[in-house]
Amino acid sequence: MRERCPHCGRGRFFSGFFGLRPRCTECDLRYQASDGAWLGALGIGYGVGALLGILLGIAEVVWHPIWRAGLDPLWTIAIASVAMSTLAYLPSKALWFAILYRWDFMAFGDAPAGPPGD
Ligand SMILES: [Zn+2]
Repeated sequence: MRERCPHCGRGRFFSGFFGLRPRCTECDLRYQASDGAWLGALGIGYGVGALLGILLGIAEVVWHPIWRAGLDPLWTIAIASVAMSTLAYLPSKALWFAILYRWDFMAFGDAPAGPPGD
């Protein structure tokens, strides 16, 4: 969540707004040790947006707050969900790569990814 390396906590995780550094500048941990490793982050970000959409939909069905505010409920929920998915992208990416680190899907230097001893 601090957007730092999950191993040493010092190296910056992102370069630019959406870019992920290939390696930690401090400890040489290789973040994307396999192709498509970023897909889980997309799933988490999409899930956060979908969860907001579901909660807003339930609130609208029960209490009608969006309709009472004079807005179109369908478009309001859709736009809020897409905006939430976009805002959640970076924290989702940091969370996903922390999970990959925790389960040994990252490696140092040019070593293959995976648990030690494989
Ligand atoms: Zn590091």
